Amino acid sequence: MTMIEDNRLFHDAVGRLEKAFQYADIDREVIERLKQPKAVLHVSVPLRMDDGSLKLFNGYRVRHDDTRGPTKGGIRYHPDVTIEQIKTLAFWMTFKCAVVGIPFGGAKGGITVNPKELSRLELERLSRGFIRTIADFIGPETDIPAPDVYTNARIMGWMMDEYSKIKRQHTSSVITGKPIELGGSLGRYDATGRGAYYCIKELERILKFEPSNTTVAVQGFGNAGQSVARLLHQDSYRVVAVSDSHGGIYKAEGFDVPSLIRFKNEIRQVKAVYCKETLCEMVEADRITNQQLLELDVDILIPAALENQITDVNAERIKAPIIVEIANGPTTPAADLILNENGKLIIPDILANAGGVTVSYFEWVQNKAGYYWSLEKVINRLHEIMARQFNTVYKLREEKGIPMRTAAYVTALRRIGKAIEAKGTQSYFHNSSHP
Ligand code: NAD
Repeated sequence: MTMIEDNRLFHDAVGRLEKAFQYADIDREVIERLKQPKAVLHVSVPLRMDDGSLKLFNGYRVRHDDTRGPTKGGIRYHPDVTIEQIKTLAFWMTFKCAVVGIPFGGAKGGITVNPKELSRLELERLSRGFIRTIADFIGPETDIPAPDVYTNARIMGWMMDEYSKIKRQHTSSVITGKPIELGGSLGRYDATGRGAYYCIKELERILKFEPSNTTVAVQGFGNAGQSVARLLHQDSYRVVAVSDSHGGIYKAEGFDVPSLIRFKNEIRQVKAVYCKETLCEMVEADRITNQQLLELDVDILIPAALENQITDVNAERIKAPIIVEIANGPTTPAADLILNENGKLIIPDILANAGGVTVSYFEWVQNKAGYYWSLEKVINRLHEIMARQFNTVYKLREEKGIPMRTAAYVTALRRIGKAIEAKGTQSYFHNSSHP
């Protein structure tokens, strides 16, 4: 990502507030407060490499807004991580937590690093070192990290352990997405994909489409992309294309998704395979690029990789009538305009991928209570929240005749706005008739 694209990301994200404001019926001050993050931390993380040399990595943690509760958001390890990107992701987290109605604000963190170039021991030292540099900035009642791109449960476990050592007390609620054995929640692993799946199930009910006649393409076959593909496949949806950073595969009849997942996770490649017990064999499929995947003639397109995938360059060529954004920010505002004009129905990121943070909230609640829920309870509660909030947003879309994205921002903005107003805005302090 270039510097200019990077600055545009935050600018574009904030721009969406103005659009939502006209429908939200809240004080103007609310918008002004949300245009800047509450706090930004930039650290340098020293790492002793296995060969004895020392390397320094840039790390960031941004807390965007904590009006509705402690801030919450993942930690990303990626060579393209920048402060502007982390600010934008923190901004989106504020709205995501509000749109599903959980009592958190938004935050995000990251290290500019290619984790694939580190040994496991280097990765552990880097993760623990990062926590040592940000320990005073985070905490179970202030800011609670979680996994994001190229971080996982094991890394969260190391981070929780390091934080607990610093504080000299076991503090499982400082971080979510941990291994189950270290206080993680059942159901967290596939919660993001599952949340998106519940959004699609609500659409299926409203628009009355038949799963076995419905084709799906998934860009980014990682944690979230695999989960949604697996659940849709179980319901007879036809998953006809998937991809990773190296490219994708396409098969018109649809893939056996569990085989693809097994192969991808064992061999680290997306290949058209069919697996029976321990035996996997190749099946016929076309190799496609990530761009071709986005432009396929499918019913549902699921971008589940990175930001800025659908832009003004390719938006006209997008054929799928329904787009479910699992990645954060896969569609630029310019592309959004084109897609809306072309009548596409977009389930926006802040709603479609909110299942992850919702189960993270459940994990935090369980850690604080010291009492753990069954998988069934986690899944039922996630389903209830996703279905309810999806329908709130969908109803607003119908009532106001606005895109789903604007409706999601309006829903979130109203909730954040009410919380900010409850603390007092200019209209309160200048009106002496108030108590
Ligand atoms: P992951 O690291 O498990 O998977 C990412 C996948 O995307 C990998 O398969 C990678 O090969 C692929 N990829 C990377 N660059 C690509 C490219 N240019 N084109 C196509 N594929 C590419 O990450 P994840 O946790 O599944 O997250 C995916 C997206 O979902 C991210 O945008 C993340 O912010 C968002 N998200 C994840 C969660 C969660 O709980 N995991 C929650 C909310 C949002």
